Amino acid sequence: MAEIIELKIPYGIDSEGQLESAKKAIKGKDYFCPVCFEKIILRKGKIKRPHFAHKANTKCSQESVIHKTAKLLIQKVIRDWKAGVNNPPVLLRQCGGCGQFKEQKLPEKVEDAVLEYRLKEGVIVDVGLVVNETVQSAVEVKITHEVDDEKLKKMSIPFIEVDGNAIIENPYVWKSLKDTFKPFVCKKCKEIFVKFQKKAQMTAQKCNIELPKNYYRYGITTCWKCKREIIVFAWPRDELHSKNEPKVKPYPKTIKYYYSRTINAKYWVNTCSYCGAIQGDYYLYMEPDGPFFGAHIRKDSLKAFREDMLHIAFYMDYCGLL
Ligand SMILES: [Zn+2]
Ligand SMILES: [Zn+2]
Ligand SMILES: [Zn+2]
Repeated sequence: MAEIIELKIPYGIDSEGQLESAKKAIKGKDYFCPVCFEKIILRKGKIKRPHFAHKANTKCSQESVIHKTAKLLIQKVIRDWKAGVNNPPVLLRQCGGCGQFKEQKLPEKVEDAVLEYRLKEGVIVDVGLVVNETVQSAVEVKITHEVDDEKLKKMSIPFIEVDGNAIIENPYVWKSLKDTFKPFVCKKCKEIFVKFQKKAQMTAQKCNIELPKNYYRYGITTCWKCKREIIVFAWPRDELHSKNEPKVKPYPKTIKYYYSRTINAKYWVNTCSYCGAIQGDYYLYMEPDGPFFGAHIRKDSLKAFREDMLHIAFYMDYCGLL
């Protein structure tokens, strides 16, 4: 005899159209599947977690049930918040400085959430977040597949991708698996960055150097020769000891094309603004107390510049150099 596959349904829809968890559902009341709207059976035992069940059919799969339920929960959380019933959901996002997941409040200006919203480009987002009566960002619910590159390219609005099962566990916390929102920096790292900026500005002023706003990342180091604090620069390139000229001109005046005896070649280097001594790439990038240690400076974009600057500031603080 063929086994009958039963779907586990964490939330049912009651006869008023409201989402109800199996835990809070009442025996004897009617509940329906959020995907196919078939009647579902409440199972509340002593051992298993409460859930609804219905027999698998062609309209409905475990995956589609989880997907739809997570979307409905996201919408419910927003609507309950806007109705003053609940707190706003919090986003858990990775900080661009320390790399830890930290809480960020969903902006107050979010007014509503709409399901399966079609963007101009034809892409349908799982949940559209409404600001000023228009969908301005989206929540994508991942079950097994993440947002594929094809869809990503067509996404004209910022989005956050969350795990469907995690949303069902706790719809108030949206942990970002991936997001294209504005880069997030935690409170502590913001303070570190301010401290770094102050020190960099002071140092730059003393050595009469202007701090760049793009392309040339900067850090602070002590010249190995004259022992004074100086500003050193890092710019996007594929290798250390690069013979390729930096792309953006004018260069900071301490970047020079020099012959190095150590590597027996000419290459672009940082020099000390006081004594002119070469500040070798090996020290700046490879030594654990070098200002660019662990920084992967590759991309030439303002976004990458900002990310790298955060890393540099955070790392200097971590080494006790601020
Ligand atoms: Zn169903
Ligand atoms: Zn941080
Ligand atoms: Zn020096």
